[in-house]
Amino acid sequence: MTEVLSADWVLPVEGEPIRDGAVAIADGRIAAVGPAAELGSGTRYEGAVIVPGLVNAHTHLEYAVYGGFGDGQPFDRWLATHIERKALLEPDDILAIARLGALECLASGVTTVGDASYAGAAARAADELGLRATVYLEVFRADPESALERFEALRAEVGPHLSERVRLGVSPHAPYTTSLEVYAACAGLGLPQMSHLAETVTERAWLVSGAGAWRAFGDRLLPPSGTTGIRALGKRGLLGPAFAAVHCVDLEHDEVELLAASGAGVVHCPRSNGYLGCGTAPVRALLDAGVPVGLGTDSPNSAVDFDLFAELRACVLAARARERDPAALTAGEALELATLGGAHVLGRADEIGSLVPGKRADLAIVELADTGLHPWEDPASAAVLAGSPDRVRATLVGGEVRYEKGKVEWRKARSAAADARRRMLAGASAAPPG
Ligand SMILES: [Zn+2]
Repeated sequence: MTEVLSADWVLPVEGEPIRDGAVAIADGRIAAVGPAAELGSGTRYEGAVIVPGLVNAHTHLEYAVYGGFGDGQPFDRWLATHIERKALLEPDDILAIARLGALECLASGVTTVGDASYAGAAARAADELGLRATVYLEVFRADPESALERFEALRAEVGPHLSERVRLGVSPHAPYTTSLEVYAACAGLGLPQMSHLAETVTERAWLVSGAGAWRAFGDRLLPPSGTTGIRALGKRGLLGPAFAAVHCVDLEHDEVELLAASGAGVVHCPRSNGYLGCGTAPVRALLDAGVPVGLGTDSPNSAVDFDLFAELRACVLAARARERDPAALTAGEALELATLGGAHVLGRADEIGSLVPGKRADLAIVELADTGLHPWEDPASAAVLAGSPDRVRATLVGGEVRYEKGKVEWRKARSAAADARRRMLAGASAAPPG
């Protein structure tokens, strides 16, 4: 059966915006995209734009209620606060938090996440709530044997929740917590990989020479390797199209070239990077070099929430501020990063990221009639500059409505996650560590 949705505008991302556009859906896939005059109006959304389902290319669903923890602390102490509080949770708490995170993503028009998962609960939450996901199970440490042991234990736990929609990946955490040998072992698994790289200048200083602010807690890190994560991985041939490098704020020119030559993707997380005082990634340079770039919120511990519309605006502002150029990134380019760009980085661009026939029917309907950007001048600008979770009317994953405004019972999801946050606050040391 074919179902048609129509709105004032359809933004296919691949292809020009369509005024009075419609999307036809059959068997969970996009059957056709075009003018409503040709496809019929079907279910009509007035004052709205239909966009491809947003791709939040870097999340930690399991940290959905960590907002504000360690606010204002330097990166090392912020991370120590995070680790201390996380250790206070039981598996049921972590699952409750991940469920809320998945729901908040759907409510933000997000249909796919690239989630770095510490406990594997993100896979179950995505499975239950109908969110599309690649769940990258996190590994740490120096020794490949123990890292893979951890990975296989988590893989066995998430196994029942994997499917065509919820896929498996592996996330060697970062070059200061994970040895090059562990990165190599992860690459050997033949799965998509995701890692935090080049997040701060202090990371570079530590890795290259053991210098800088991280000396104070160097006993909790792997010893300096003498080079940056990207250079070390590039030299060993461990970067590639299946590799998603998250952050990439502190890049030198040769590192941009290494990423481009390898085919690795970058996930840009401007709010997290701003919140933690890291700076902001050279998005324009990465795009000009041909690096696939996606957009991610990272966790609410640094971005406050999973609102990808807020991230879109931060993305536009950060790029223009960095380059001191209003043309550094258009709203349309930002929307592409948050859809097709993210799909490329997650290795799923053949099935999601744009509204073209044959792809999965992942889309969001965003109502903008009550905003100052309506009536329409540029629908992409309106969606990026005025979109918000409050204005998402519905989110469809594979043609199924997985979120509809006013129809979600938030209370239960919120209270279970809030209980977990209460437990973390009750058990935390009086003075944050550090
Ligand atoms: Zn992260």
